[in-house]
Amino acid sequence: MELEPILLPGIEPKRPIVIAGPCSAETEKQVMETARQLASKGIRIFRAGIWKPRTKPGGFEGVGVEGLAWLKEVKRETGMYVATEVATAKHVYEALKQGIDLLWIGARTSANPFAVQEIADALKGVDIPVLVKNPVNPDLELWIGALERINNAGLRRLAAIHRGFSSYDKKIYRNLPQWHIPIELRRRIPELPIFCDPSHIGGKRELIASLCQQAMDLNFDGLIIESHCNPDAAWSDAAQQVTPDILDYILNLLVIRKETQTTENLNELRHQIDECDNTLIEVLAKRMRVCREIGTFKKEHDMTVLQAGRYNEILEKRGAQGAACGMDAGFVKKVFEAVHEESVRQQMEIINQ
Ligand code: PEP
Ligand code: MN
Repeated sequence: MELEPILLPGIEPKRPIVIAGPCSAETEKQVMETARQLASKGIRIFRAGIWKPRTKPGGFEGVGVEGLAWLKEVKRETGMYVATEVATAKHVYEALKQGIDLLWIGARTSANPFAVQEIADALKGVDIPVLVKNPVNPDLELWIGALERINNAGLRRLAAIHRGFSSYDKKIYRNLPQWHIPIELRRRIPELPIFCDPSHIGGKRELIASLCQQAMDLNFDGLIIESHCNPDAAWSDAAQQVTPDILDYILNLLVIRKETQTTENLNELRHQIDECDNTLIEVLAKRMRVCREIGTFKKEHDMTVLQAGRYNEILEKRGAQGAACGMDAGFVKKVFEAVHEESVRQQMEIINQ
């Protein structure tokens, strides 16, 4: 991929490059107030969603073109660069007309090649930085495909944003980080800057600091973080936004380590362990959900919770499967005994309800 390393004049590729601002531009007052506070903390690139893709109708869908004038004012008054999300050719034309400095493509849009191609066509011959969020589904090829479409339209100032991947089961994160996917993107396109979006990965402000640190330990180039002058009153994504003050606090706490082969490798391996443990917990939670469904079935059909034949079959089979994967059969049995105990406890709860 032919890329230009400097995204914006005057913004050095010094880690982390920070983009901050509210999820959505709501009112001129909210935009200006947030922007002034962020500028006073040294933030150089301001984000705000003007058009908001919402999962369900009826939510706040963005102020639309009116808000672009507020971003223009942010730029004039604070000198910050301004960024917004585009999802259609019309968004691109409007944003370019108002002098927006940087565009990003949202996760729902990058999952759709027709939409990305439409944006790429609208951008042909334009030299503007474009950040491509990962698609909502964990598909690295689709993510790279979206980047290639924009690159093929002649754009050279590109970067990726890792914002996590959606999943069905209950979880700690709003969107699972699945760090191995951006790590593989780095391996495939080493010269492509990668940003982390801890706000949309975490979904809760408490998770932002640790996600930022993880991203820095994995040698990400930048961070895009949602910040609002009054987070609790935000019209979208209230739970995950932080005040400019808190953002500054989080950024100051970050430890930026130099890239050294050994510790970097160790970090990467540790993140793989975290990844495995997260997957284990999610799979266990899913298993328990299925168990509770079985509990409901047993209750409706007057069956006993404990079906001894089935239990023995599970222990034997899993022990043998574990041994075939190089683990001690006794260890695997022990794990499944514990899992079974919790399953029984959860089914009893259902039956005794
Ligand atoms: C956003 O950045 O506000 C947004 C809508 O994010 P995503 O596309 O990652 O869901
Ligand atoms: Mn948001």
